[in-house]
Amino acid sequence: MSDTAAQHASLRELLPLYALGALTGEKECDLVCAHLASGCVTCAEELAAYARTAARLPDALAPVSPRADVRAKLAARLAKESQEPTAVPGGADVIALRPRASRASRAWPVAAAIAATIAAIAVASTIRYRDDAAAERVARADAETRAGQASDRATSLQSDLAKREAELAGERAVVAAFAAGDAKIFTVAAKGAEAGSARISWNPASHKWAVIAQGLAPAPNGQRYELWIVAMNGKKLGGVKPAGFLSPPDASGTSYLDVDLPPGAKVDGAAISREPAQKKTPDAPEGPVTHFGLVG
Ligand SMILES: [Zn+2]
Repeated sequence: MSDTAAQHASLRELLPLYALGALTGEKECDLVCAHLASGCVTCAEELAAYARTAARLPDALAPVSPRADVRAKLAARLAKESQEPTAVPGGADVIALRPRASRASRAWPVAAAIAATIAAIAVASTIRYRDDAAAERVARADAETRAGQASDRATSLQSDLAKREAELAGERAVVAAFAAGDAKIFTVAAKGAEAGSARISWNPASHKWAVIAQGLAPAPNGQRYELWIVAMNGKKLGGVKPAGFLSPPDASGTSYLDVDLPPGAKVDGAAISREPAQKKTPDAPEGPVTHFGLVG
């Protein structure tokens, strides 16, 4: 591609702006002038067509009467400009290289409006793009935070569920023991002003107790209920062995305990006492005996 041909390709797109007088870059104006002066007929014809269109643009707009002071200034300016000679460079006899002053003065506001509109659209779309990108970043960060929270919540729920399932499995074992046909069931009743009672299902085959206590008074802070295996000596208490702590009461006020009876232990009944959580004597009650009962 020759220099002129390369220029022709790149400068051709500037012709509409040139015709409107909206080509602001001095270097671009000079390049277009030089190319037209080099005698490119295609560009000259195109520029002429664009110039005719540009000249008609103001006619397409609704006429607006200028204010009196503006009209006076405009008249003074036109009078001054019509006295100045129009520059027509040599060799360009088809059309003037720059739109004539009168045409430029009419075309300029339209060109300025078009240029301003193009600039406004460019700025608006840049702002919108920036806003969209920022909004997208915020939305993505928000979604990530929420996903993290949901995951934490799911983990916490799973752990709660596992705990509850373990509790339920224990409770089911106790209930199943009560339902067994060969079980001996006896009651451990409240003493004095104590509340509630416990029922014990004793399975002689498996040497197990399943204990369900209901309606016990809430244990004070730092205390809990402990179950004891009772051996009698005639009508008198022969001795006690620790059988374990009742579970904290559930929502219905029920506590549970599974007991493996020690082999060879003498079993005549059971007792419950309220004990400090930190006991000094694991094998003997320290607190008051709240419930007592013998195997029927
Ligand atoms: Zn050209």
